[in-house]
Order: sequence, then structure tokens, then C-alpha cells
Amino acid sequence: MERVVVVGAGLAGLQAVTALRAQGYAGELVLLGAERYPPYDRPPLTKGFLLNDLDDSTLPFDPQELKVDVHYGVRATGLRPGLVETDGKDQAYDGLIIATGAEPLRLPGTGGHYLRTRDDAHTVRAALRPGARVLVVGAGWIGAEVATAAARRGCRVTVVEQAATPAPHVLPPEVGRHLAPWYARAGVELRTGQRVAEVRPDGVELADGELLRADVVIVGVGVRPATGWLEGSPLEVDAGVLVGPDLRASWPGVVAVGDVAARWSPRYERRIRGEHWDDALRAPAAAVATLLGRPTSYDPVPYVWSEQFGRMVQFAGVPMPDARLVWRGDPTRDPTWAVFWVTADHRIAAALTVDRPRDLTQARRLAERDARVDLDLLADPLVSVKQS
Ligand code: FAD
Repeated sequence: MERVVVVGAGLAGLQAVTALRAQGYAGELVLLGAERYPPYDRPPLTKGFLLNDLDDSTLPFDPQELKVDVHYGVRATGLRPGLVETDGKDQAYDGLIIATGAEPLRLPGTGGHYLRTRDDAHTVRAALRPGARVLVVGAGWIGAEVATAAARRGCRVTVVEQAATPAPHVLPPEVGRHLAPWYARAGVELRTGQRVAEVRPDGVELADGELLRADVVIVGVGVRPATGWLEGSPLEVDAGVLVGPDLRASWPGVVAVGDVAARWSPRYERRIRGEHWDDALRAPAAAVATLLGRPTSYDPVPYVWSEQFGRMVQFAGVPMPDARLVWRGDPTRDPTWAVFWVTADHRIAAALTVDRPRDLTQARRLAERDARVDLDLLADPLVSVKQS
């Protein structure tokens, strides 16, 4: 392999070029990024960045040291065998790493901010003036973090969520309902069960016709993989670039990583899209091994964290529908608690922890090992989470 092109200069793209050199690849290496910036971290954009605690989340990267030919502000526009077409100079490749991430799902209408990039974060931060009426659409991880920051900045915040409880993309109502009181305690109004039909410059119109006026609207209703540039290419794409557990795509010499990849997971017998920082961090080393002819299986227990309303919320695994819930602590009373999705044969399928990082680490480790647990001990917050 003599010329590897990495498309997408986010965390996954950066990890890919780093892993290529670390694993001994000595050929030409090109990194293309649509944004004007070198790779930066996105999680701080809804946290320290909005609170004015942080201005720059640029990731450490020295292109000269790694001998990477970087092209920022250049967008890939198409893919043919052996050639990435761009809005600048086209790039020939014999190895290709697709790391184009995801982009926010948009609601109908012309108004509203969407928070994905550093530029978006600058715009939103400037709009969060004390006393401003801020309306956040979506009570998922991003919406809750934006609401947290806006409330701390002295804004009057309302969150509108179409589902009955927060974080409905991961948590069933019996778990999600325990996140709802956090909003009120932070001075944020949470309106659930209300669907936004249109985002307008002066607020949002709900499906029932009600108009909620606001000075600032921020929409966080999920993302979709950034695969538009692959339309018309014979690469298999279906809600993400389809890859196997070795992260190989449907063409020779092509792998995909991070938010853009839809990976087949033998562990869960389903396709899993990264969509989280940890996946963008870890998958590239495995993808690079595959590209360099040392196929590796990458099938971790997915992990995400969210810092909301002064709490560290962590979630690992995939909540299987037939799993039973085991509570550790009482969410209505205890400041810290956890809940586990446990299979019929007493294995942890997923875990949600609130300000209990050690429980999360241990539960994730047990899930990775497919270990059995004792349900009584699991429910006891005074005993560490361990194998039975
Ligand atoms: P991205 O970071 O999206 O990078 C992809 C890059 O590719 C982008 O720079 C994009 O401009 C570029 N690109 C796209 N299309 C093209 C093209 N055609 N040509 C060239 N370049 C292209 N995860 C957590 O686990 N915990 C958190 O607390 C958390 N907080 C987050 C907060 C925010 C505001 C956001 C947006 C995300 C957060 N995430 C969090 C998710 C995490 O940041 C992502 O999973 C991670 O950034 C994915 O990395 P990636 O490199 O795959 O994609």
C-alpha cells in the first residue's frame, strides 16, 4: 500500500492517521477535512465551551512529524474506485479510510441553531445572553447539555421533547422519567410529549399549532451519518457506511470508522453506529490493522457519557428489549444511582450510572467479558459491581 487517503479530519480521522504511522505504514498519507480547522474535540462544545470556560478544543497533532499531507477546508464530493473526488484537487488512493462523521438531523423551517461544529458553538455561545428566552428542541444528551449551560448562563430555558421522557433514543420511559426532575431543579421548563412541526426565527410551532416564542432556538434531535458525498458510488451505504467487525467496507482497500460507520456487531447481532467519542477514539486502530492486512475484530461494548445538570451520566451497552432492569440505589431519593439491563442468564447487557463512574467501568468490563452477575449484589450500592 503506497497512498492512503483519510477523508474527515475529526477525532476518528486523526486517530486513523496516528494509527497508520504507529502501525508502521510508511507510504504517502493524505488527510482531507471539510472544516477550516485542524482536528478538534467535540464533547467540550456543549460543556465548557458554552460556559465560556474553554475556547479551544484542538487536539494535539503535528502533521509534519507524522508526514501527513493535510488539506483543511476541502470536501470530498464523490468516490470512484481508486479516486476521491473533492471540491479541490482529486486524490488517488490505494487505501481509503472514511471518517466523515455525522451531521445534525434538521427540522422543517428556516430558524434555529444546530450544534455540531466549532463555528456552531461560537454562534450559540454568543446567543446565550443572560435573560434570553432559549428554547431547546430535544431532551437527548445534546439538548440536556445545552439546557444546562444556558441555564447556568442566566437564560430562561424551555426544552421541548416529543417523547414522554428525556433521552428516549436510549432510555425506556421507566428509566428516562428519573431524568425529568433534574430539569426543573435547574430552573429549566421541560415540556414532554410535544412535537415541533416547524422551527421559525422567532420560536417554534408545535404540531398542535401552538407557537412557542423564543429569542434563541437550538435543535438537538439526533444525527445522521455524513454519507451524502458517497451517493452514486457503488459502496454499500444504508444509514452509514456498512462495515464488518473488521471495519472493512464493501470495496477492497476501504474501511470506515467513527460516526459514519454502521458496523456489524457479532456481540449484539445487529448493526451499531458509533455516534460516541469512545468509538471514534478506539475504532481507527482496528481499521488501520485491517487496511494493512492484519484483520482485527472490533466489537466493543458501546460507551457514552453526558454531563448534565451537574451530574455525570454514563451509559454502556445495548439495552436488549427482553432484559430486566436491576436498580442500584433509588433514583427518587439517592443523589447517585445506577440501573442495569440484565439478560435472563444474568449477564449485563447495558448500564446507566449517575455519578457512579466506578460502577460504570466495572459493569462495562463485565459486559465485555460476558460475565454473569449476582442480582442481589448488583442491586446493593455498597458492594462493588463484580462477577458472581
Ligand atoms: P466528526 O467528529 O463528526 O468528524 C468528522 C469530520 O469530517 C468533520 O470535521 C466533518 O466536517 C468532516 N467531513 C464531513 N464530510 C466530509 C467530506 N465530504 N469531506 C471532507 N470532510 C468531511 N460523545 C460522547 O461520548 N460524549 C459526549 O459528551 C459527547 N458530546 C458531544 C457534544 C457535541 C456538541 C457533539 C457534536 C458531539 C458529542 N459527542 C459526544 C459525540 C462525539 O463527539 C462524536 O461521536 C465524535 O466526534 C465522532 O467523531 P468522528 O471523527 O467520527 O466524526
